[in-house]
Amino acid sequence: RKISEQHDRVFATGCLDPHTQNKGERANAAFVVLARNKELEGVIQSVKSIERHFNRWFHYPYVFLNDGEFNSTFKETVMNYTSAPVEFGQIDPSMWGFPEWTDAKVAKEGIAVQGDAAIMYGGMESYHHMCRFYSGFFYKHKLLEKYEWYWRLEPEIKYFCDITYDPFQYMASANKTYGFTIAVKELKETVPNIFRYASAYKRKNNLQSKGLWEMFIESPPEDPKPLPKDDPKYKPPLPDELRKIEPNAGGVNEVDPETMEGEKYNMCHFWSNFEIARLDWFRSKEYEEFFDMMDRSGGFWMERWGDAPIHSLAAGALLSPSDIHYFRDFGYRHTTIQHCPANAPSRQLPREPFLEKTTSDEKKRREEDEYWESWDPEKENGVGCRCR
Ligand code: GDP
Ligand code: MN
Repeated sequence: RKISEQHDRVFATGCLDPHTQNKGERANAAFVVLARNKELEGVIQSVKSIERHFNRWFHYPYVFLNDGEFNSTFKETVMNYTSAPVEFGQIDPSMWGFPEWTDAKVAKEGIAVQGDAAIMYGGMESYHHMCRFYSGFFYKHKLLEKYEWYWRLEPEIKYFCDITYDPFQYMASANKTYGFTIAVKELKETVPNIFRYASAYKRKNNLQSKGLWEMFIESPPEDPKPLPKDDPKYKPPLPDELRKIEPNAGGVNEVDPETMEGEKYNMCHFWSNFEIARLDWFRSKEYEEFFDMMDRSGGFWMERWGDAPIHSLAAGALLSPSDIHYFRDFGYRHTTIQHCPANAPSRQLPREPFLEKTTSDEKKRREEDEYWESWDPEKENGVGCRCR
């Protein structure tokens, strides 16, 4: 389960010299910011933060996207806070809103029901559109076509440690596809049926886990037994016709040795308000088919599927732990959740990046290994670089 500890090393411990690091080539990459005009203040906060801690040395371009039109105040103000290239784009209705194959009336009713049930953002139609856009469309936007990599930025976030190397280049050299800083548990009521579809996708395409899928499933009970009918968690078996389509649909009390042996989503997901990833993974045939199947289920309307569990379950089905990078050295906060690598003993560790499989100095390497083996991410103790 502890994928990052087993398979992943931080790219750098302590500060590197950004003025040396930025001498290298730039990746073909951009920041992607989806926002509305009214979020200008929060956007400025985020741009100031990422400029101060990273982009003043690296000058990566920004792409701002909006389903509406950015006004001139928004555009002019944003450009005052960076000297990097900035583009502003509007999202075409084909990427935002109800597709023509949905019954918008039914979808709106589904959304209203979620509002009544007080599901977080459940009753807010625009939020559903946003999640679907970030799940299946942003990487196809014409302003992003030219890019290979993106770094997602949201309004009102905060970086609090300097990022003194180019994470895109390090991702590329380490052959990584997807990077995260925080993984959390999803609110169950927003995704009651997401896992049925994700696991059906995996089954339908005969995909064997490459080791990441396990991050998203609850450990199966050692001696699985059907729950008694009076157990509050008991779910009655589905009718046979439905079981043929979704053999795992009944929940944990139905252990079916021919299919999923009671696999169950543990609600874990990479928190997608921060992401650094390769766009070509999203553009792949496999991801497209995954998104399409999830989309056709109606879960973006009849439930409130977030793009975070969508990206995560797609990664679980298609990627391996070694494709994922955990940026445990990034100090990052969004709303009330943060990842803080400050106060790290690793400040005393050697500063060389961890990329090389072998270093000439075996002793150093062993020290690093021992350090990371004993490091406990739960304690929010890790590498740190001028955190403030
Ligand atoms: P939270 O982080 O889940 O609480 O959701 P946010 O309100 O921060 O929304 C996630 C991202 O989508 C942010 O970058 C928002 O600016 C953006 N966003 C959300 N809804 C809309 C919308 O209706 N239009 C546009 N243009 N952006 C939106
Ligand atoms: Mn947000």
